[in-house]
Amino acid sequence: MHFFEYRNGTLFCEDVDLARLAAETGTPAYVYSASTILSHYRRLDEVLAEVPHMICYAVKANSNIGILSLLAGENAGFDIVSGGELFRVVKAGGDAAKCTFAGVGKTEAEIRDALERGIFAFNVESEAELERINAIAGQLGVKAPIAVRVNPDVDAHTHKYISTGKSENKFGIAFERVFAVYANAAKLPNLKIRGVQMHIGSQITEAGPFAEAVEKMQPLVCKLKTLYGIEYFSIGGGMGIVYDPSLASGTTDWWAKDEKPLTLEGYAEAVVPKLKALGLKILVEPGRFMVGNAGVLLARVQYVKAGDIKKFVIVDAGMNDLIRPALYQSFHEIVPVTQRAGALEKVDVVGPVCESGDFFAEERELPPLEQGDLIALMSTGAYGATMSSNYNSRPLLPELLVKGDKVATIRTRQTPDDLIRNESLPSF
Ligand SMILES: *Cc1c(COP(=O)(O)O)cnc(C)c1O
Repeated sequence: MHFFEYRNGTLFCEDVDLARLAAETGTPAYVYSASTILSHYRRLDEVLAEVPHMICYAVKANSNIGILSLLAGENAGFDIVSGGELFRVVKAGGDAAKCTFAGVGKTEAEIRDALERGIFAFNVESEAELERINAIAGQLGVKAPIAVRVNPDVDAHTHKYISTGKSENKFGIAFERVFAVYANAAKLPNLKIRGVQMHIGSQITEAGPFAEAVEKMQPLVCKLKTLYGIEYFSIGGGMGIVYDPSLASGTTDWWAKDEKPLTLEGYAEAVVPKLKALGLKILVEPGRFMVGNAGVLLARVQYVKAGDIKKFVIVDAGMNDLIRPALYQSFHEIVPVTQRAGALEKVDVVGPVCESGDFFAEERELPPLEQGDLIALMSTGAYGATMSSNYNSRPLLPELLVKGDKVATIRTRQTPDDLIRNESLPSF
């Protein structure tokens, strides 16, 4: 669910008129709905009520400290993948002791910093990493809390760039090697074995792969509990959202997809009974689910250009602001902020960046759009702003957080000076 809807022909985010907001702040701009994020967090918390749990929001989906502070206010945990993300969490008022640290390439500096801040656990991706963490913990005179990330080798049925739980992926430790790795970890004096973790991929729109992975892990998790007294099992994130409501066949639940919508309740039914039996603390690491449908990217039409065979709607947002269509061939619904009458037209919606991959939609049926019209790229709250860049020397966009009729600027638009802030002319 989300809090974007038309009122009298204009798109609103909660109680804020997006046409007015865009006129005030300029375009392009990201706008987020705080109530949507909070409702996602609370709903997930509710469906997991039957197991002791901690929701660790995957910071990489949207790492703005304004968003992190909302979740810190709910007592959330955080799943981080870099020292920079840990810094953000702490700045936002989050608790380092509720942070899990994921990723295959943790550096010495990152590990040291995380140990000094007292994180909840490292989710370890290789044996070399275990040894590195052990060594640094030894230098600091602390015991490093760890879990091993297991690759359960299940097919998440998602785009190959965001599938992580198959044996051919770089993530985690293969099922067959897990016990040997835990046995090694147990011998390292500065480690405290605290849990076990998995994460099978992202934008998973069926309950099946989650259920399959939990089931596959069950015997292993029980054995690790007996052998090493682990306290937690993290089942990762990856819950998918609806990007194309036309596929959601009549349901208004934005979690839904295809004929058989995957609901949050469906997800919980698939995993909670199996998890309950384990008697462990369960961690979940949702990123996209928490923020994806809570954000839109506002852009203004600059030109409408009729090519020989195609009509292009050129907008002021580009692939540097939102790379998902170019990177994953992903779909974002596009709607006019002010509703328009008239026959639908097939157009390509493209940005100004000098790359043919700079498009948001190809051959999309949209209401007639003219120069100056405002559009919203829906469901861009996750992996939107965080993946943006300054390519083509385009300033990073403002981010606005709406709650009710209030708007907070949680990031200002970069200025030309910002673009070159860390650069200098050579002195020779
Ligand atoms: C990216 C990531 C997540 C979040 O994935 P979503 O699909 O956004 O829920 C969770 N855990 C780990 C280890 C990740 O790398």
